[in-house]
Amino acid sequence: MLRPRIGHALRGAVVAGAVLLLAACSSSQPGPTAPSSAAQAVVTATPTPTVAVTPTPTPTATSTPTPTFDATAHSLDDPTSIWVVVDKQRPLQPKTYVPSDLVTPAVPHTNVPQLRRVAAAALVTMFTAAKRDGVTLYSLSAYRSYATQTSIFDRNLQRLGRATTLDLTAKPGYSEHQTGLADDLGDGTSCDLAVCFESHPAAKWLSAHSWRYGWVLRYPLGYTRITGIQTEPWHFRYIGKAAAKQMHFSGVQTLEEFFHLPPSPDY
Ligand code: ZN
Repeated sequence: MLRPRIGHALRGAVVAGAVLLLAACSSSQPGPTAPSSAAQAVVTATPTPTVAVTPTPTPTATSTPTPTFDATAHSLDDPTSIWVVVDKQRPLQPKTYVPSDLVTPAVPHTNVPQLRRVAAAALVTMFTAAKRDGVTLYSLSAYRSYATQTSIFDRNLQRLGRATTLDLTAKPGYSEHQTGLADDLGDGTSCDLAVCFESHPAAKWLSAHSWRYGWVLRYPLGYTRITGIQTEPWHFRYIGKAAAKQMHFSGVQTLEEFFHLPPSPDY
């Protein structure tokens, strides 16, 4: 997919925006918030408990990573694992892997999507939730076979030359789309598959909520040195609810860091 590059100054501005967005997400996490110490002090200092007029907040601890999260629950190497990590250092094994349980989720799309069954179900649930919030999402490009990736790569090689092609297009066998667990998402506008999607309500909705459905943004802005991929605000990856929740609340931005794998800046 072609990804417009953004200038250095713009990148700085977008990074600042991303930080603000992240802060906004953190403050909108679900569940009641724990009472502040100041509020507690007021409650405990009330001399006449019989005339208390403020409801007592219920303390909760839902905004932290799950202590029981098992980081070894799934393989990072097996292509059939929902945690398989594919990057420039980690091709699919074998490179011609084909998922055995591809299905077509019934969602708005531009190209008929195929995803592994578990990811497809989670995608449908996520699209339904987005719709409820007034956001219509589109699947733009989900599963791509080794053969499809080969033809895209070869076509770009002819049109763009080797350096640009390697920068913009995953080599066959190195594309996360081949796992059947990735989908490029958009909102049906001219910013589909473009960096400007990041500022759209659909991207902001995904940024705030996708983790609840097991999907994470795979190539965030500012992490190219780790992922090897320029920012792609449209590319989402299914890793299951437990890992997505853990990643969300721990603040870790890439699968490489989350699973303690080495950075993958290049082939
Ligand atoms: Zn993609």
